[in-house]
Amino acid sequence: MDSTLLADVGGTYFRYRLGEEEVVRSASKGWEKQLMGLLETHPQVRYVGIAFAGQVSEGKILSAPNVEVSLHNLKTQLEQRFPHLRVAVDNDLKCAALAYHRHLGSDSVAVLYAGSGLGSALISEGRIVRGHSNMAGEIGHVSYRPAPFRCGCGKNDCLELFASGSGIDKHREYYRLSERSLDEWRLSGSEAEQRTAEAAEEALVFAASLMITLHNPEYLVMGGGVLEHNPRLLERIRAAAAARTFSPAWKECRIVEADLDDAPLIGAGLLLQPDFWLK
Ligand SMILES: [Zn+2]
Repeated sequence: MDSTLLADVGGTYFRYRLGEEEVVRSASKGWEKQLMGLLETHPQVRYVGIAFAGQVSEGKILSAPNVEVSLHNLKTQLEQRFPHLRVAVDNDLKCAALAYHRHLGSDSVAVLYAGSGLGSALISEGRIVRGHSNMAGEIGHVSYRPAPFRCGCGKNDCLELFASGSGIDKHREYYRLSERSLDEWRLSGSEAEQRTAEAAEEALVFAASLMITLHNPEYLVMGGGVLEHNPRLLERIRAAAAARTFSPAWKECRIVEADLDDAPLIGAGLLLQPDFWLK
């Protein structure tokens, strides 16, 4: 029987789901080898949906600040190697936005994830906002303020350097901070740790305010590893963002916690549904 493989290639983890089986998670290093291996050992797979943490256009990976890539022409390379496959690839946040569009039953949903990188995506009037070459929403690479190190994209002032897991790790290394969480740094960290935690929070408040002020969504879904590891963070962002956001848009927006397990994987599945091709 024809089967489906859904994959989520992130900066830290590679997750996949074969047919109706459980989601499997492993380190994202070596993800291409794992993906090829899965396709070789499961010839019943006909449809492949991939959510990728990088800039994707028409099945090609244009850049990936947080993931190692050699199969840049991913869709074509997979379909040439396995001619029976139909492959759909999109940015992971755009996939997550699709999943929340369906989950929340809203045509106006923004997602903002602070994971390895900082990413966003928007569903407006029921459609993914893509921009000219599918790069709309790269909020992590908005110029914010200079840092003493560089982002994966090459700049040294990206919002992602303050408001993402990889950015916080760069601060940790540079200032020799402890392995503890932002919540712990804030409560009982050294001066440098408190300062870094506050800077991360401030950058996330800025990102949330920017999303709501620019896009006027009904929902802003916030998630990713940085929020998951710091359970008090979302409440503080919500409280601080009120004063920083254009008030009429703020009043109409609900900031909600990302509560779907594996939203990018769910969205990768939606990429394969026939009605998606109409969007
Ligand atoms: Zn950048």
